[in-house]
Amino acid sequence: YHPHKVQFVTSAPSLAHCPLPDRPEIVFLGRSNVGKSSLINTITGKRSIALTSKTPGRTRLLNYFDVNDELYLVDLPGYGFARVSTSMRDQWNRHMYQYLECRENIAMAVMIVDIRHEAQKNDLRMFNLLGQWQIPTLIVATKSDKLKKSQLAPHIDKLRKSYGSKCALMPFSSASKYGIEEFWWEVTKRQIV
Ligand code: GDP
Repeated sequence: YHPHKVQFVTSAPSLAHCPLPDRPEIVFLGRSNVGKSSLINTITGKRSIALTSKTPGRTRLLNYFDVNDELYLVDLPGYGFARVSTSMRDQWNRHMYQYLECRENIAMAVMIVDIRHEAQKNDLRMFNLLGQWQIPTLIVATKSDKLKKSQLAPHIDKLRKSYGSKCALMPFSSASKYGIEEFWWEVTKRQIV
């Protein structure tokens, strides 16, 4: 699959401003600073379509990108950033949970984790919720360039143990552009596009 046409659609400040659910969409979730924007840039081949920010937790809007006029990629705000206030976090939860539960065209969730770290509590919580909402989930373990080759398999195994042996999980690196084809294969094999 080749994303030959990628366009920024809109930044929705609230759930009321989302575009019509007239095509399948893939939502991207992850803790702040995990590499979510970099991943979206890498898989679309657009260097800076998703704004990577040096300030963790800055993207608070839902950002929509259209791929080939047939698919939305939705960049959700990063969660779990300790420096935001509890009320901000509660607000995130309320809005995003509502979105994930109610948006009818979500075809898949991509949960981005750091391949170097063990499964985090809030990632596990999010993964379980996605399961409850029956959203097919792909875990993308990014920043794999930060590990030695010999360390890749042990880290993947460890993550698989935490999320369940049947979970869909793949290594990725935006820095070395590793995993782009594998990512799109995960999309096409689910017949989303
Ligand atoms: P976001 O907050 O989840 O959108 O994260 P960003 O995409 O802005 O990335 C956060 C930081 O991690 C930035 O400094 C990126 O350059 C860095 N980063 C993201 N992906 C990778 C990767 O695959 N490898 C390495 N080495 N660094 C990465």
